[in-house]
Amino acid sequence: MVNLLDFDLEGLIQWCEARGQKRFRAVQLFRWIHQKGVGDFSLMSDLAKPWRDDLALHAQVKPLSVLSRHDSADGTIKWLFDVGEGNAIETVFIPEDDRATLCVSSQVGCAVGCPFCSTGYQGFSRNLSTAEILAQLWWAEHTLRAERGTTDRVISNVVMMGMGEPLQNMQALLPALHAMLDDHGYGLSRRRVTVSTSGVVSMFDRLAQSAPVALAVSLHAPDDALRDRLVPINRKYPLAELLAACRAYLDHAPRDFLTFEYCMLEGVNDSDQHAQALIDLVLHHPDGPVPCKFNLIPFNPFPQSGMKRSSAQRVKAFAEQLSRAGLVTTVRKTRGDDIDAACGQLAGDVKDRTRVHLRRINAMPSSPQPLVN
Ligand code: SAH
Ligand code: SF4
Repeated sequence: MVNLLDFDLEGLIQWCEARGQKRFRAVQLFRWIHQKGVGDFSLMSDLAKPWRDDLALHAQVKPLSVLSRHDSADGTIKWLFDVGEGNAIETVFIPEDDRATLCVSSQVGCAVGCPFCSTGYQGFSRNLSTAEILAQLWWAEHTLRAERGTTDRVISNVVMMGMGEPLQNMQALLPALHAMLDDHGYGLSRRRVTVSTSGVVSMFDRLAQSAPVALAVSLHAPDDALRDRLVPINRKYPLAELLAACRAYLDHAPRDFLTFEYCMLEGVNDSDQHAQALIDLVLHHPDGPVPCKFNLIPFNPFPQSGMKRSSAQRVKAFAEQLSRAGLVTTVRKTRGDDIDAACGQLAGDVKDRTRVHLRRINAMPSSPQPLVN
């Protein structure tokens, strides 16, 4: 049985044509699925009955099953979706005054292994399929529309900042991005879809050619020695290569700058010297300044990281130092704190989490205090 969430419009057209249907039939079907959120073919009233019957026999619109949903006091919503074999992925909805962003996962776990990230700590299980990536958006958008009693768009922005390294799953990512951008799909403009990467330089070109969305690069360190430790893929694609690739991507990017993310880790990457080194790296580059803005993310600790969040004063001073040098700098507000929905806190392996809990329980047989996650 084919899952129709696995296709971008071109893919669906090919599939429909192979079943003897004209192109416009595929467009109709794609609109029913993604624009109206309908997965039941019998409700697709303007499709001919024989075609609906044929669809019911050979295809389905199969969402992910929801393991849990948590609503934060600040309006943030986190879904935990079952992806089989005891694995789960997380998707986070973040409403703000002028937009509503969905943070989407691309892999179960992650192979990059950044030591400050709980997804990295968990290791890599597998890539998500296009259907599993798109199902996160499909579910969130249409569930929220139904709850709000509206047919208007709810989610205005998508960021590929959930679990996983999107550029290590290009095959599934690209059709998912196409469906997000397609006017017959979610119709999001390129500047409202952001791919965040640890710096898989070899894929920048392919992204630029196939789906030139906004790019955010997780920098986290101003020099190779520190970045090798914090973002281990730096050993393969060091800073000089990364910055050259960023510059090249800008020719295709929806805006004339890109975003560098910088996770603020106390005593690790947050000194005045680090800020100055960052300024030198991007502004006093031999090839000229790299057009960029900085987004500082206060570190969200998790038990195994052994690292601490920089103090609010340190983050502020660091931001001011960058701003004074002429770099546009924002500090990310932490959202969904009460439901563990913040960056780097997404932990998907349900079995493993249970095991961790059990280990903790076994380690403290005589102390029945509540387990803190
Ligand atoms: N793999 C991609 C996208 C997912 S992570 C990437 O690394 O860019 C999204 C962002 O959250 C990245 O900038 C990542 O560095 C950051 N992040 C990861 N763990 C974090 C943590 N514990 N606290 C704060 N930010 C974190
Ligand atoms: Fe992977 Fe991104 Fe986490 Fe690094 S920060 S381990 S690249 S998800």
